Amino acid sequence: MSVPATRDTAALIPRRRNPLSQYFSDLWIGIVTILEGMWVTFSHLPKRTITVQYPKEKVPMYPQTRAMLVNHVDDCGYCLSCKRVCPVNIFTITGVRADPGEDLGILPDGKPKKMHIVDFKIDMSKCVYCGLCVEACDTRSLRWEQPQEKPVYNRRDLHLDFSGMTAERKQELLDRDEARKKAKAAEAAAKAAAPKVAPPKPTSESGTASSPAPTPSDPS
Ligand code: SF4
Ligand code: SF4
Repeated sequence: MSVPATRDTAALIPRRRNPLSQYFSDLWIGIVTILEGMWVTFSHLPKRTITVQYPKEKVPMYPQTRAMLVNHVDDCGYCLSCKRVCPVNIFTITGVRADPGEDLGILPDGKPKKMHIVDFKIDMSKCVYCGLCVEACDTRSLRWEQPQEKPVYNRRDLHLDFSGMTAERKQELLDRDEARKKAKAAEAAAKAAAPKVAPPKPTSESGTASSPAPTPSDPS
């Protein structure tokens, strides 16, 4: 048994129309919609183009733009402040101490550079662009730059290495560091194994407390 339509529900039921008039109505709506779209499109033709063919074309960025991190390792002092402050821990930094007398230049803060930067890797695929590492870098060797920003098609290509060293040079420095550590450990072991020499006992001539002091003679 069908429920009789009340006054409110009757308004919700679509009115049946003549199929022919429905056809022409839909056709008219389609034509008007196409004309509206074409009007929007053609109204933009005389306007200045504001889009570019990225990545072939690039718009200049503001100096403050956080586009891509770059480290100029010649100015890096291996203080590790950037690594410590990074909230997502994406730095891999390895350094090898310079040999005594080896000149690595002067850092921007005026101090001599003492470490070879063997590895300075940043996994930019995990970077949250907070900028804390750049603020923590006293020598300003780590900074945001635009020219390095480039599109990549593989996540591995976002693992950046700024050491600028060949694999042979890295290995040479790491081997040198290993040999130095072994020599130091051997020296410490030899020192620990050496027999301890007892300090010489004080003699009576030395006038120490071990020799009894002469007592004054009794005048009686
Ligand atoms: S900007 Fe990226 S790399 Fe630097 S501290 Fe933030 S998350 Fe780490
Ligand atoms: S904070 Fe700057 S100087 Fe220190 S390790 Fe990082 S990049 Fe190098």
